[in-house]
Amino acid sequence: MNPVALVTGASRGIGRGIALQLAKLGHDLVINYASNESAARQTAADCLAAAPKTIRAEPCQADISQSADREKLLAFTRRAFGRLDLLVNNAGVAPATRADLLDATEESFDRLLAINVKGPYFLTQAVARWMIEQVSAAANSATTTSPLEAAPPYRPKIVTISSISAYTASTHRGDYCVSKAALSMLTPLFAARLAEHGIRVYEIRPGIIATDMTGPVKAKYDELIAGGLTPIKRWGTPEDVGLAVAALAQDLLPFSTGEVLNVDGGFHLRRL
Ligand code: NAP
Repeated sequence: MNPVALVTGASRGIGRGIALQLAKLGHDLVINYASNESAARQTAADCLAAAPKTIRAEPCQADISQSADREKLLAFTRRAFGRLDLLVNNAGVAPATRADLLDATEESFDRLLAINVKGPYFLTQAVARWMIEQVSAAANSATTTSPLEAAPPYRPKIVTISSISAYTASTHRGDYCVSKAALSMLTPLFAARLAEHGIRVYEIRPGIIATDMTGPVKAKYDELIAGGLTPIKRWGTPEDVGLAVAALAQDLLPFSTGEVLNVDGGFHLRRL
């Protein structure tokens, strides 16, 4: 039996990079996606190929902004795997058009808040309830299960992918910045609430990462990076973020919760 991870938005970009690194650690995976089924199937196949042992990787369509879809995603995970060790809240969207703060629409604001904040917030709430049940079940079965049949130790974790936009003002996508600032409160809240149950909660704050999301502004960021925007002068990759999630998944920080891990080439450093 393998530990099980659910990665939202794992069909492409950063989520795909995270799924691949977790596959390398031997996790079974739920590959969530919104609409791009063929990309999700490809990620699942690539995870199986990357894993050093037999794992399962199952795509599951669900729009995380919709309550019924979140329920469907968790019901699928329960049915397919019967346990969940790691939730990675990765799925998120940028505004359809980058509009100046003085022109941006309420419609875009509502869309971003629904997908980037409400979705992960209530998915985390539902997962937390299930993880608490599993913590109790694992404690009860620890005394009765023979070591030969033992499941992997149950050390549940929740990781949320926010952004440097949580604290950086970009006046042409204020809705995105507001959504990521709000999302950043999720980790301290759930870390404080879930510590007594042995569930640890972390935030990863990526910088400028090469994915479809940043494709339209590639030239602008090429120039900024070359000009010294980040101390480490290169684009980040989905693999960079995947490796950070893998570090947390390996349980090497057992006395830490609520931490923020910057995966941004040093963007967050104040320099003089
Ligand atoms: P991306 O390449 O655009 O991929 C987005 C992923 O999210 C896709 O798998 C997409 O599924 C899924 N998705 C979108 N809306 C969804 C919904 N309502 N329900 C479920 N899944 C949904 O984006 P990315 O660059 O990898 O970004 C991933 C996360 O990292 C986002 O939260 C983003 O804000 C954050 N981030 C990105 C950067 C960056 O520079 N790229 C920097 C900091 C933070 P489909 O394939 O089905 O559309």
